Amino acid sequence: MTDIIRTENLSYAYPPDEGKEPIPALAGVDLTIEPGSFVVVLGHNGSGKSTLAKHMNAVLLPTGGRVLVDGIDTAEEESLFEIRRRVGMVFQNPDNQIVANVVEEDVAFGPENIGVPTEEIRRRVDESLKAVGMEDFLLHAPHMLSGGQKQRIAIAGVIAMAPQCIVLDESTAMLDPSGRQEVLRTVSWLNRERGITIVLITHHMNEAAYANRVIVMDHGRVAMDGPPREVLTRSEDLRRLGLTPPPTVELLDALREAGWDVPLDAIEPEECAAAISQYLGA
Ligand code: ADP
Ligand code: MG
Repeated sequence: MTDIIRTENLSYAYPPDEGKEPIPALAGVDLTIEPGSFVVVLGHNGSGKSTLAKHMNAVLLPTGGRVLVDGIDTAEEESLFEIRRRVGMVFQNPDNQIVANVVEEDVAFGPENIGVPTEEIRRRVDESLKAVGMEDFLLHAPHMLSGGQKQRIAIAGVIAMAPQCIVLDESTAMLDPSGRQEVLRTVSWLNRERGITIVLITHHMNEAAYANRVIVMDHGRVAMDGPPREVLTRSEDLRRLGLTPPPTVELLDALREAGWDVPLDAIEPEECAAAISQYLGA
């Protein structure tokens, strides 16, 4: 199967202010993202996450190397629509993504722009709103909704384009815990039930538990890449890269240092509690 996203020695430098040097943001990124996977991208501020995301649907074009989306080189100008149709993007601020005064019109905006026939649009809008659990809000005003609901509308707008992959760049950062949960549950469901590839950029370490792969960026490079259990338990490496390990891992680390025989990879709170009570009961 063709990788949905493939970067080959991808480098990018932002154009400089007059008389200054270009600002390097990505420095030789080689990544392949398989269809159907759920990838979480972590990394401290300025590590290159957003720049990488913007290469995944040709918002930015490489200054070195190349990016293939479902086999299509993003540098081919004539393929821009094909690329945008395959990979949809959800951003951080839900208010900046609303384009209409009525939910159904907002969701219809994308497919209308690419010339989807009216009847098909109707079907896609209904289906997309259902997929994010917002079918009862068809005629509501988007700006009256909560942050989590707005982001789900933004996701519905992306789903209405029938993408193979959705990239979410810190889309939960401005939400309260329940809004964050709404969005995470929605994208997990889309991944599991619809097979849509998810690339979730976040600074919430615990969101990595939803993924089947975690990538940590640092200075425009991939610093760590593996299953959550492997990456999240490498506390020292995480700290070196400016990240705080999950609290469960820190606790298990401390207990092991104190001589307790508990597993380090009980990263979910329930597993962690079970491991500790098993140790105490043994
Ligand atoms: P992250 O999303 O991980 O915080 P970014 O991809 O936004 O990181 O930034 C990577 C590097 O590129 C940083 O050094 C940042 O200052 C720089 N950068 C990001 N956006 C721009 C821009 N529009 N113009 C110039 N430099 C930028
Ligand atoms: Mg960013």
